[in-house]
Amino acid sequence: MDHFLYRNGSLHAEDVALTEIAASVGTPFYCYSAATLTRHYALFTEALNPLPHLVCFAIKSLSNLAVLKLLGDLGAGMDVVSGGEYRRARAAGVPGDRIVFSGVGKTRDEMRLALQGGIRQFNVESEPELRALSQVATELGLTAPIALRVNPDVDARTHEKIATGKKENKFGIPISRAPQVYAEAARLPGLQVVGIDVHIGSQLTELEPFEQAFQKIADLTQTLRAQGHDIRRLDLGGGLGIPYTRSNEAPPLPLDYGAMIQRTLGHLGCEIEIEPGRLISGNAGVLVAGVIYVKQGEDRDFLILDAAMNDLARPSMYGAHHDILPVTEAPPGTEMQPYDVVGPVCETGDSFAKGRALPPLAEGDLVAFRSAGAYGAVMASEYNSRPLIPEVLVQGDHYAVIRARPTFDEILNRDTIPEWL
Ligand SMILES: *Cc1c(COP(=O)(O)O)cnc(C)c1O
Repeated sequence: MDHFLYRNGSLHAEDVALTEIAASVGTPFYCYSAATLTRHYALFTEALNPLPHLVCFAIKSLSNLAVLKLLGDLGAGMDVVSGGEYRRARAAGVPGDRIVFSGVGKTRDEMRLALQGGIRQFNVESEPELRALSQVATELGLTAPIALRVNPDVDARTHEKIATGKKENKFGIPISRAPQVYAEAARLPGLQVVGIDVHIGSQLTELEPFEQAFQKIADLTQTLRAQGHDIRRLDLGGGLGIPYTRSNEAPPLPLDYGAMIQRTLGHLGCEIEIEPGRLISGNAGVLVAGVIYVKQGEDRDFLILDAAMNDLARPSMYGAHHDILPVTEAPPGTEMQPYDVVGPVCETGDSFAKGRALPPLAEGDLVAFRSAGAYGAVMASEYNSRPLIPEVLVQGDHYAVIRARPTFDEILNRDTIPEWL
């Protein structure tokens, strides 16, 4: 459930009409609902309530400081995958002891930043990384709390570009080699083993792959404990999918996910960490765009929007589907017509949907892409010198621009023409 609904025929974010925001900030823009973010976070904390737990929001899905502040103030931890994200978490007021650091290619500078600033744990993905972290921590006279990210070799049954838990993926340490690498971690100075980490992919629409992975983690916990390691935390990653269409898709509910975690891991007495991104932020955001032209092709009509692949990359990148709603609701009985929905970027790949059934639309009309909160604004670029689009946060009947559209002067001033030209 989210808070983007029609009221008197006009699509609202909570109590604010999207037309009102469009009139003041211009299109295209991202709009997030604070109530939806709050509700989705609460679903996870409730689902894990019987166990000691920390819900770490995956910043990479939506990294605006206002969103991080909102979730951080509710008690959320943060999962970061770069020094930049670490800085964002801290700038939003999240204490280091609620931040976990994931990612296959942490640099020594990033390790230093997090060690000095405070960190709950590093999720280490390889032996070279383990050795580098040991060195950096020793140089600083600090101890790095670590979990090793293991690759359980399970099929997440999701899009190949976002599956991470098969042995052919670049992520984690093969689970068969985990005991050996934990032994090395225990020997190295400056490290303290605190747990195990796993993340098998994103947009999973079934619980079974998770359950298979978590069972392997339960077994590994016993093995490692028997070898003398202090496994007290299990970080289970993110990955729970969301419905991208309002028809028949029904991914598992956080409550069932939580119950499955209790069933497979509850007996171990570990603190549970999870790193949901998409499920918290995905349906908490829409992308609002305006129609520039309606163009008649030979056998189809093109709806040319002012938003493009550089603003929302998922359709061109993954072939992802986003529901598209007219911001002004069509009267009942309106006949739908198929449109190819495209942006102005000079690439054939700049297409959002083909043959999408929509009510007749005209220049200046507004449409909203649903489920655009996650992996939307964070993946945007300025390709074709199109400025990054604003982000707006709505709470109840008020809203604020939480990232302004840059001016062209700001954009041009980032470039430097050398004196010798
Ligand atoms: C991307 C990612 C997540 C979040 O995944 P979602 O599908 O958005 O829940 C969590 N943990 C790690 C390590 C990730 O790479």
